[in-house]
Amino acid sequence: MKSTFSSVIVSIVICALAGCQGPANHGESKAPSLSRFEYSAPKMGTIFGLTLYASDKGAADRAAAACWARVDQLEQTLSDWRPSSEISLLSQQTLNGPMAAPVPVSEDLYYMLERSLEAARLSDGDFDITVGPLVRLWRRSQQLVQLPKPSRIEAAKRSVGYRFIKLDPAHRSVQLLAPRMVLDVGGIAKGYTSMQVLKLLRERFGITRALCGAAGDIHAGDPPPGKSGWVVRLESLEDKSKPGVYVRLHNYGISTSGDTERFVIIDGVRYSHIISPKTGLGLTDRIAVTVIAPDSTTTDWMSTAVSVMGPEKGLALVEQTPGAAARITKIEGGRIAVWESKRFGQFAFQPAP
Ligand code: AMP
Ligand code: MG
Repeated sequence: MKSTFSSVIVSIVICALAGCQGPANHGESKAPSLSRFEYSAPKMGTIFGLTLYASDKGAADRAAAACWARVDQLEQTLSDWRPSSEISLLSQQTLNGPMAAPVPVSEDLYYMLERSLEAARLSDGDFDITVGPLVRLWRRSQQLVQLPKPSRIEAAKRSVGYRFIKLDPAHRSVQLLAPRMVLDVGGIAKGYTSMQVLKLLRERFGITRALCGAAGDIHAGDPPPGKSGWVVRLESLEDKSKPGVYVRLHNYGISTSGDTERFVIIDGVRYSHIISPKTGLGLTDRIAVTVIAPDSTTTDWMSTAVSVMGPEKGLALVEQTPGAAARITKIEGGRIAVWESKRFGQFAFQPAP
């Protein structure tokens, strides 16, 4: 299926949106004046889900419509699948060579570029939105079930490198310094979008008890009435028939990255849709990474980045990020190895059988 943004791990959204509530009510009083409303819509090449608590259906429907309009606007800004999006038009300016001068961009695009460069620096280039030309080769490989020729990978790599993005905050402008660059924010934009939806609900409609998410990226606002948090079942490489791992959170983001859904097997090797900027190919490690943090832009890029960085370097990054926690599963020597960051236990719980 063609996907604007990656659609990796769906079950955490489904579970969260289906209202997998925790067993405890913690004695909080219910707010009977609020009812639960659930929406979903195909957006950004995947299914976005929205759950909110509002006083009546009319208010909820109006709020949801405004949310979808905001998601559409962000898709038209950030989708690398759409040739007419703002980010695609920016990349196209390098078709015949590096850009001669900076161009001003929208606030949303500038913020995405700024956060992406920060992510690239913090991950030592393992998260890099300039991997677009390599992502295009990966998509071709997936269609043809054939690896790209090494010469094509080398040619693509000449357009890859986050240092080729020059930002000027004073003018909110950007200049791309290599030829044939393709910016791909598929590893960070859904987290940002989910958080933007919650911001809109809060600021325009006064709705704070809400959760928005797509594929593996969710932002949770205030908890449902009478609950202490939203409950999300983590997707991992572990046996699906086992009870699973649950977290409870509010005013936090949660993202999961991995190759459970998007991969290609070529000559018996499984290549994930997450690219190693070093090899130019999809990751061949079987890994699933969940990151939890107050900001879902962070959880989105960090779960992708940690997939590339691996458990040791990745966990070090998580530990040094304020409020962040992570759980990683990886297949090593035919067995599943599990890593949990120090703060992970603050979120995890086992529902009563
Ligand atoms: P996610 O599902 O959030 O882990 O993001 C995966 C998507 O991010 C891919 O489908 C690509 O569009 C993009 N991507 C792949 N590899 C990288 C990378 N090394 N750095 C940044 N973005 C990447
Ligand atoms: Mg991501």
